[in-house]
Amino acid sequence: MSEKMRTLTEPFKIKMVEPLTVTTEAYRTEALKKAGYNTFLLRSQDVFIDLLTDSGTGAMSDKQWSGIMMGDESYAGARSWEHLERVVKALTGMEYVLPTHQGRAAERILYTILGGPDKLFISNTHFDTTRANIEYTGATAIDIVCAEGKDNEIDLPFKGNIDLEKLEKLLVENARETIGAVIMTVTNNSSGGQPVSMENMKAVRRICDKHGVMMVIDGCRIAENSYFVKHREQAYSDKTYEEIAREMLNLGDAFVMSAKKDGLVNMGGLLTVKDEALSIKCRNLLIISEGFTTYGGLSGRDMEALAIGLGEVFDKDYLHYRIKSTAYLGERLRAKGIPVVWPIGGHAVYIDAKKLYNNIPVEEYPGQALVVDLYLKGGIRSVEVGSVMFGKYDEDGKLIPAANELVRLAIPRRVYTQSHIDYVLDVFDDILELKERKNGYAITYEPPFLRHFTAHFEPLKK
Ligand SMILES: *Cc1c(COP(=O)(O)O)cnc(C)c1O
Repeated sequence: MSEKMRTLTEPFKIKMVEPLTVTTEAYRTEALKKAGYNTFLLRSQDVFIDLLTDSGTGAMSDKQWSGIMMGDESYAGARSWEHLERVVKALTGMEYVLPTHQGRAAERILYTILGGPDKLFISNTHFDTTRANIEYTGATAIDIVCAEGKDNEIDLPFKGNIDLEKLEKLLVENARETIGAVIMTVTNNSSGGQPVSMENMKAVRRICDKHGVMMVIDGCRIAENSYFVKHREQAYSDKTYEEIAREMLNLGDAFVMSAKKDGLVNMGGLLTVKDEALSIKCRNLLIISEGFTTYGGLSGRDMEALAIGLGEVFDKDYLHYRIKSTAYLGERLRAKGIPVVWPIGGHAVYIDAKKLYNNIPVEEYPGQALVVDLYLKGGIRSVEVGSVMFGKYDEDGKLIPAANELVRLAIPRRVYTQSHIDYVLDVFDDILELKERKNGYAITYEPPFLRHFTAHFEPLKK
């Protein structure tokens, strides 16, 4: 390809189409009411552009669909399992590979064993299911993203890094037996989708070795992170994306992956560990709760498609398009005056809703207000990553807000074209007209864990 600036084009063509429904604002107003103003509770039929998540929403390639037909559905020792195991071992350098039905199943297995009351987990930022699985065991999860990672504007290359000084301090202050693990989320999903540098990962490895604690890599976007390492960390500019991923994963003692992200499949997960004793404990739980060791929670065809996806995701043209198309949306939103977390991360654009809707107090969830407006104005589904997702209550039932009130526009892999994204940009012109809005939302129902998935809201009037 020429190096000239040209329109960003998808490095694939379309072989099968899936029609979208076009709806009116009046229709969407009713649909939202029925869904309790929670976009998780909308019917996908009623959504035009679905940017709720990049998880399991990607399009598989013709090769992956061929793999589906070649899947070996044998209960034990299937050919598709051997294929997947070979690919994952080569990628991670870890001996023990456990297939699970999705990422959180891998997390539940690992953290049930490593967790428990009095245990402490330390991460650059725990993803919501990670935190929930840890807290469910009675353990505590602490996030210590680097200081730059908390600044939504500063232009730095690796804002997903962990704060190494704080890590060292926590490991000095807490006895080794109380540490469940240090978990590196790569890229840092809940912290703006920002990448983690190889330098930071290597330092974490050294610190973990010094204190004798485990290092887990939550690496469902390891290929996207490798793109940033290659282009932002000088020592890696000559390495391939796959070489970078291998080097990084090799630093960990365990790896959990939601294959619904960089596995380029619609369902699946992986847990890999280096230690045999730990692998045996994990396998026992896997067999009880997911399935036999050579399929876990997956069909043979799922494993075949995943084995192929884990190869395709490192293709240089794919990764270039992936990262640049996310940046395209973010850069143009910023040019319109929409406050976005900067620089743009790998899988999503995060909007600072507190800054955009600066008249709405955090107790009224400005992020949720933006999520609702995006759906009403354009049929676009997004998700709040703020106090609805991470807020807590103090003893008096007063909201302890999250550090940020963000709205995430996640980009499904290989699904939407440039014109869909241009449409999203157009809808933001309507959002800019709502900037002065003062009324937010109140929560009328919430469950005890992961409330954002099922909570109901009502609009507040002033
Ligand atoms: C998606 C995700 C998970 C959970 O995986 P599921 O497949 O949704 O269960 C864990 N960690 C991170 C960083 C994720 O993005």
